[in-house]
Amino acid sequence: MRKKIVAGNWKMNKTFEAGLQLVDEIIKELDAQPASEVLKIIAPPYIHLAAIAEKVILLNEFGVASQNCHHLANGAYTGEVSTEMIVSTGAKYVIVGHSERRLYFAENSELLSQKVDIALKNNLTPIFCIGENLAERNADKHLETVLKQLSDATFHLSASDFGRLIIAYEPVWAIGTGVTATTEQAQSMHKYIRSEINKKYGAEVSSSISILYGGSCNAQNAKELFACEDVDGGLIGGAALKAPDFVTIINSFPA
Ligand code: PEP
Repeated sequence: MRKKIVAGNWKMNKTFEAGLQLVDEIIKELDAQPASEVLKIIAPPYIHLAAIAEKVILLNEFGVASQNCHHLANGAYTGEVSTEMIVSTGAKYVIVGHSERRLYFAENSELLSQKVDIALKNNLTPIFCIGENLAERNADKHLETVLKQLSDATFHLSASDFGRLIIAYEPVWAIGTGVTATTEQAQSMHKYIRSEINKKYGAEVSSSISILYGGSCNAQNAKELFACEDVDGGLIGGAALKAPDFVTIINSFPA
């Protein structure tokens, strides 16, 4: 059985105080609806990592993710944060290849493959994001775009290392727009991604890897998205900033 996962990407939101308050609210909401089989991940800005990791360390199926990492081990890179430093906060996951980083920070597949490598080397699980933009979808190039993003940055990995990844399919046209992929669009893309992983790494890896959907997933639509056979959870942006919505999403898997 594949791991069910809901990860909240806070992006550049929440002061230190407000972030800790949000975590307390999430924990309180979860008391009523514990969703003990769902892995819950919070990806706050760097400044919150250590304090949030400390708060959730004893909770069941709870983890903390960094939203980014540097691709090198250490050195004179002012303002950057290494995977070793992230691990030292207690975080166990890192988002790699989010479309906002690809777009605003010109992150390409070569760089992302190095980030994946150094994360795995330091025992940090990459949540690797892929997804086409609107022009690519309209030109019917979404499948080839997504496959290229995936293969260029991760298909150099051994099967055992690839199996340590979490994949997030996030169509760029759905991120922060309020437009969500239909269940048909999400399911068919997730199935395609899994089939390509199967071709490259075989059934054992492809059937056990979690593929999350991201893009305006919210408390209203999570249930139908999570009911899709190949959708193993969500990477949530805006709706992760409200504790009741985030916990409703966590509780949206079929019984
Ligand atoms: C995201 O940025 O990963 C995301 C899915 O954002 P939103 O849920 O706000 O579309």
